[in-house]
Amino acid sequence: MSAQGKTAPAKKALKVHVLRCRGESCDALLAFEENSEGFLLGNMIEVAENDGGQRYFPCPGCGGRNLVEEVEHQGKWRTRVFGFVAASGA
Ligand SMILES: [Zn+2]
Repeated sequence: MSAQGKTAPAKKALKVHVLRCRGESCDALLAFEENSEGFLLGNMIEVAENDGGQRYFPCPGCGGRNLVEEVEHQGKWRTRVFGFVAASGA
C-alpha cells in the first residue's frame, strides 16, 4: 500500500484501460474503454452496431465482432463485452 497522492477515490481500485479486440490472434485497440471489472465506460450499448438484435463493436483490425450486452450491476445497467465472433469469409 502506497500513500502517494492518487486523486481517485479509494473505494475500489478500478482501473480503466482501452478495450482490446477479443480475437485470439488480433489484440487490436478499439475506441472504447473498459474498467477492470470488464464494464465499458459510458452507455456504450447505444453506440454499438445492431445486427438483428446482436449488439457488437466491429474490430478495425480483424473485422470480427466484439459482442456486447447489458447487465445489471449494483443497480445500474452496464455494458460489457461477453463474446467474440470472428469475421466470416475473411
Ligand atoms: Zn480484432
